Amino acid sequence: MAAPTRKESIEKMQRAMESFGIVLEDTMLKQFMQYYEVLVQTNKVMNLTAITEFDEVLMKHFVDSVSLAKVVSCKGQSILDIGTGAGFPGVPLKIVFPSARVTLLDALQKRVSFLQTLTGDLQLEDIRAVHGRAEEFAAVPGERESYDLVVSRAVSGLPVLAELMLPFVAVGGKMIAYKSAEVLEELESAQRAIELLGGKVENVESFSLPESDIRRVLVVISKVKNTPGKYPRRPGIPEKKPIL
Ligand code: SAH
Repeated sequence: MAAPTRKESIEKMQRAMESFGIVLEDTMLKQFMQYYEVLVQTNKVMNLTAITEFDEVLMKHFVDSVSLAKVVSCKGQSILDIGTGAGFPGVPLKIVFPSARVTLLDALQKRVSFLQTLTGDLQLEDIRAVHGRAEEFAAVPGERESYDLVVSRAVSGLPVLAELMLPFVAVGGKMIAYKSAEVLEELESAQRAIELLGGKVENVESFSLPESDIRRVLVVISKVKNTPGKYPRRPGIPEKKPIL
């Protein structure tokens, strides 16, 4: 089958987002197109993504990122994206939910510099890109237990993610991990960490992205009590010795 034209890919993206309840305004579509160009251009000189083909970027990065809208509303929410890389899922979420306040966190300075340029180019407001590790950012005054939503895609396993993400979630808020279809075992192994850190599994939403066979599982964990002050542990420890 011939590759879809750009117009076809854009229309597919619009239909997919509409099925999540998102109507793409002109400004948003322009921002996505500009994002694509900046991403692919910068990717030539910096390792940002293995996915560069137009149709694939639209589905696997843009549509996938905003599929979060299936499980929570982002309107007016404060959102932290841990290990955002080239901005996924945080930047697409900000594009389609302009009223959200977004913090993008990554441990690699060059990716953060890319994001600072990108968010400026896209004229996004109320979004910041911060260089740092989650383990250290949690000690910055005002950051701990201060977000409505904490999201993360392709960063680590659930026991580790629970320790990196839950400390930032305000009681009453949620962490949502973007996971693949084989999540059940991982979820099982994360039960203890989730409970210890003040979380409660609320929902495991499993679906395919519209008009594709790309599977996605969103693990939604509510913050039901405060996270003990000793978590997260020092940088690297959550990964080396996960709470099991
Ligand atoms: N979320 C993006 C990028 C995934 S790659 C996407 O789905 O495309 C993982 C990213 O997480 C890398 O950019 C890496 O620098 C960052 N990362 C890994 N551990 C981290 C930590 N402890 N704190 C902050 N960023 C971290």
